[in-house]
Amino acid sequence: MAAASGTILSNMNYQYPKIAEAAELLKARAASLENKADILKAVELRALYGEIATLPVDERANFGKEINTLKAELEQLVAASQNEAEALPPIDITAPFDTNVAADKRPKLLPSEAGSIHPLMQELETVLDIFYRMGFTAIESRELDDEYHMFSSLNFPDGHPARDEFDTFMTVQQDHNGHPLIAPAHTSIMQNRMLRAHADNLAKGEPIAVVIPGRVFRNEDLDARHEHTFYQFEGLYVDKGVNAGNLLATFKTFLSEYYQQDIEIKSQPFYFPFTEPSFELALSCPFCQKKGCNICSQSGWIELLGMGMIHPNVLREGGVDPEVYTGFAWGCGLDRLVMMKYGIEDVRHFESARLDFLRQFV
Ligand SMILES: [Zn+2]
Repeated sequence: MAAASGTILSNMNYQYPKIAEAAELLKARAASLENKADILKAVELRALYGEIATLPVDERANFGKEINTLKAELEQLVAASQNEAEALPPIDITAPFDTNVAADKRPKLLPSEAGSIHPLMQELETVLDIFYRMGFTAIESRELDDEYHMFSSLNFPDGHPARDEFDTFMTVQQDHNGHPLIAPAHTSIMQNRMLRAHADNLAKGEPIAVVIPGRVFRNEDLDARHEHTFYQFEGLYVDKGVNAGNLLATFKTFLSEYYQQDIEIKSQPFYFPFTEPSFELALSCPFCQKKGCNICSQSGWIELLGMGMIHPNVLREGGVDPEVYTGFAWGCGLDRLVMMKYGIEDVRHFESARLDFLRQFV
């Protein structure tokens, strides 16, 4: 018997007036009960069972059957109300109040026009737009990862001292190898995943070209240039015949587009376990055009990011044959890029929630 939730079930035809009467009474009462299950404990129901013994023997079975029918009807009513409770609309945990609260009892909220998109996210849109135009796709990084993606897949052998340079936050949760889960210190955690996901496309002549923005974490002493939480965007490009010249040209094009002026770059050798050769890239100061200013410490140049040709071991671990394919990768700090664009002197402003700072970007 299907019943619309919250309504009284269709009336059974009870042969005994006593039971019909009790049915009507109990169903009406159930409708007003908050906990519908309480109706099954009603004294009237118990009284009916008690009456069986007082009836003539040949009627007892029929009478008892009807009480059971009534009880079954009440049980269905209880079950229907429980289904209804389960079908309540899901709670929006991002809402700043309980959405089930009546409209007139909800707290007063500022109009949405009073808010704005965070400057870093505005600038990230600009960054991604440029790379879309250059044929890259984008995928977000993640904010918790395992030891394999943070280190092993990136050619950091066990116990390698370079692991210590990525001093980040560990959780008490462990991965399946018993290592603590890690708040990623770089977006390079996604390299292995992207290589694996797209390795098959390489054979079809489709390069892997992806930009991976994400929040990263370092155990830093905080100052105007260092935050424990900041944004990076990783770049990954793999195809036949890719070389370091392609990498530098790609990034120079990006920087010139982003700063809307011709940017010079210079690279110097560096070391990262996951790229070989590795570079540190400096750009001509977009603020003073190399004349010297506070942003570039009067040098005219600003060291911006690390990059390099993806190490053959990293390609191999990602299912890509390094004898056939080569590729480049970079990990660029978004915060620093934006700081240079607007002459922001302290990286801590971004996470400070200071409205006087944020309102300048509305
Ligand atoms: Zn400068």
